[in-house]
Amino acid sequence: MVLDLPLSGGCICGALRYRVNGLPLAVFICHCRNCKQRTGSAFSLSMITQRKDFEQIEGGTIWRDWPGGSGNMHRQHLCPHCLTRTHTEMLAYPDIVNVRPGTLDRPDAVVPIAQAWTSAAHAWAIAPDIKRFEEDPSDVQGLFKEWRAIHR
Ligand SMILES: [Zn+2]
Ligand SMILES: [Zn+2]
Repeated sequence: MVLDLPLSGGCICGALRYRVNGLPLAVFICHCRNCKQRTGSAFSLSMITQRKDFEQIEGGTIWRDWPGGSGNMHRQHLCPHCLTRTHTEMLAYPDIVNVRPGTLDRPDAVVPIAQAWTSAAHAWAIAPDIKRFEEDPSDVQGLFKEWRAIHR
């Protein structure tokens, strides 16, 4: 799967636009309760991106700090007009930005490498062919390597 870099994306109303200039590290599904509540859906998607590769190119965000499912503080960034959440800063990992891949212009360009917290998943929402972890994934560096071998 060859990724056409930069990846671009933005919010529903179009005021907030961003670009990802380098190959991300991986895409994950998370089935935890926190992700379900925040998205109002069955799971969340995370595209782990190096901060140096992430660029906001139009518009600003409003943000709030709130603990994620791990208990670590997360800074959720939303468009101030339409309130789409485009990305999350994980404050414990300052070199990383978690871009929400549903906001990419081409969300089908990236495929998740693993799904976390299947112990909290709806049975019907578990993706059949994607690695499962009952809680947080182990060997995250190994998963980064696998994802980057698939998306070049
Ligand atoms: Zn917007
Ligand atoms: Zn989660």
